[in-house]
Amino acid sequence: MEELLERLLEECRPFTSMGKVADYIPELAKSDPDALGVYVIGSEGKHSWAGDCRKSFTLQSVVKPILLLQALLDNGPEVVQSQVGVEATGKPFDAINAGDRTLDSRHINPMVNMGAIVMCTLIRGGNYAERFQRLLELTGRLAGDPEIGVDEAVYRSEKSHGSKNRALAYLLKSYGLLEDDVEAVLDCYFRACSIRVDCRGLAHIGAVLSNRGRLPDSNERIFPASLARYVNAILMTCGMYNGSGEFAIRVGIPAKSGVAGGIMAVVPTRMGIGIYGPALDHKGNSLAGIQLLERLSRELYLSIF
Ligand code: GLN
Repeated sequence: MEELLERLLEECRPFTSMGKVADYIPELAKSDPDALGVYVIGSEGKHSWAGDCRKSFTLQSVVKPILLLQALLDNGPEVVQSQVGVEATGKPFDAINAGDRTLDSRHINPMVNMGAIVMCTLIRGGNYAERFQRLLELTGRLAGDPEIGVDEAVYRSEKSHGSKNRALAYLLKSYGLLEDDVEAVLDCYFRACSIRVDCRGLAHIGAVLSNRGRLPDSNERIFPASLARYVNAILMTCGMYNGSGEFAIRVGIPAKSGVAGGIMAVVPTRMGIGIYGPALDHKGNSLAGIQLLERLSRELYLSIF
């Protein structure tokens, strides 16, 4: 496995120069565009890696499946689905999914910004600090990292350049889809996006989802298998935003990308994969990262189709 990962990494490194690091959050523009790393945790517990997999970065949208999971754990699928739909939008992650008619909650899903912002309001807790703390604890368990924390510089950068997300949140509020104080909800969302991980952490999250809710080392169950099915299904159809259909054809596994360059991928019953490659394609997905996953999927017959 290590040899295969090394070979694919070298094959894919040239693709990093074809992408662009995100700069709409100024702090993210400081990332090294040439970085590329991959980490795999197999169902038998074996860890394999190659490249820049020790570099840390922020989860960004990779936190969306965790927000969804926390909302599902706290409310159950029926309540969550009554608040945010499950159909792909076919639009960019920060699109305003409203036309000239009322914004319909069925037209958004938890993998786009509007849906993820609503997920923050479904986390249980006395106040937003408490809610975020619970989310951070769940993220730490999923990532196998008890020391997990927030990158304060990225958080401040997101918060001070968050006009688009503010617009999305106020729109939700104006349509009655968000009741709480918008700034408090957004603060939770910005913090969630700014949680720091590395490729190993992403692979660990993927491994728990592939193991249907059980931790890879101890086999301890941390959420019901039915919720893993819910999350993995939405990752498959919506996880790569408006690139999800093409990704399903090219790679064929549930995955979630983030604008810091991370991709967390789930191969049900077989492995979790963490990728880091901050140079993005025009849809906001790691360009070299998708190339790498495509090759890995072909070599190991990972596609579920
Ligand atoms: N924090 C980013 C945003 O809200 C997350 C987007 C992403 O990773 N696609 O814009």
